[in-house]
Amino acid sequence: MMAHSLSSEELARLPACAAIAAAKGLDERYLGDCAIRAFQGRHIVDICEALGLACDISTELVIQGGIGTLIMRWGGNQRTLAPSLLQQAAGAIATAAATAGRALTGRPVTVDAETRDRRLAACQACPLWRAAEDRCGACGCITRAKAALAASRCPEGRWP
Ligand code: SF4
Repeated sequence: MMAHSLSSEELARLPACAAIAAAKGLDERYLGDCAIRAFQGRHIVDICEALGLACDISTELVIQGGIGTLIMRWGGNQRTLAPSLLQQAAGAIATAAATAGRALTGRPVTVDAETRDRRLAACQACPLWRAAEDRCGACGCITRAKAALAASRCPEGRWP
């Protein structure tokens, strides 16, 4: 099934995050951080019950916060930390160096449109993709730019 990203409105309904919702309103980063901390060690059934959602073995819920992303599945949770600015800079420098190396050796620095579109489609179906910012939640890169560069790699190995 497609992953369901919990909205700010849904996160604000969690009793565990009521105080955050009262103080910060519907700010997704604060509510997401609260929900990640409250549910990262718990089973998906717990958050489904708290929100009145019907969940089964195929349900996949995604919580995005400032500290990273939590993907909750029946068989276990996956926590991805938001990349630090230092990690983002290191990744950008490595890609820039690899791109320059390709240019210097006469190899193409961008991929063809079909490959770029396949990569973008994978990102848009990825639970780590941050649609509002068009960013990868694992590396922090702007997805549209990242997908076009031949030297880019998906940090989660999700690109076809
Ligand atoms: S680069 Fe990979 S991990 Fe990042 S959003 Fe795209 S598919 Fe997901």
